[in-house]
Amino acid sequence: GIPQVAIVGRPNVGKSSLLNWLAGKRVAIVDDKPGVTRDRVFYLAEHNSRYFDLVDTGGMGHMDADRLTDDIEEQIRFAIDSADVVVFVADALEGITTMDQEVAKELRYLDKPVLCVANKADHEGVDPHAADFHRLGHGAPLKVSTTQNRNRAVLLNRIAELL
Ligand code: GDP
Ligand code: MG
Repeated sequence: GIPQVAIVGRPNVGKSSLLNWLAGKRVAIVDDKPGVTRDRVFYLAEHNSRYFDLVDTGGMGHMDADRLTDDIEEQIRFAIDSADVVVFVADALEGITTMDQEVAKELRYLDKPVLCVANKADHEGVDPHAADFHRLGHGAPLKVSTTQNRNRAVLLNRIAELL
């Protein structure tokens, strides 16, 4: 079948924005109110003659300050069951949160490539914060910004290499 690339991360880090940015069009709903129930979004992407489904499973379930939310459990379930590559997104403006650490830990049990992406690295001032994400245990983070169109081709190349 077509390789599945799951976009995983806590609410509001920019998963849906990332999907739309990579797709080059608006396929997923971007919202700064996390936790609204929505459907899983698939987008059939092509890069360097390789085809893959980009999957945004975020936006389901509810918010919970302390525990992993239903939303994240659903994302991780999809990653475990169906993904070939996981794009793990965190927010360079906010830095590492407890929820990021919990997601990172869950993803460590996966025997699949995980690509750590520091989104919202809008300008170089944020880069030290973004670089700190290597502590999440999934390698050197790739700094991207969907709003500043930073490193889109690099991200697509990395994904394609892992398929
Ligand atoms: P999701 O909950 O992880 O799917 O996050 P969304 O894609 O809905 O985005 C959450 C918020 O982050 C929205 O207000 C986006 O406009 C904003 N956002 C997404 N990407 C970037 C970025 O690269 N830089 C900045 N500054 N904001 C971003
Ligand atoms: Mg979303």
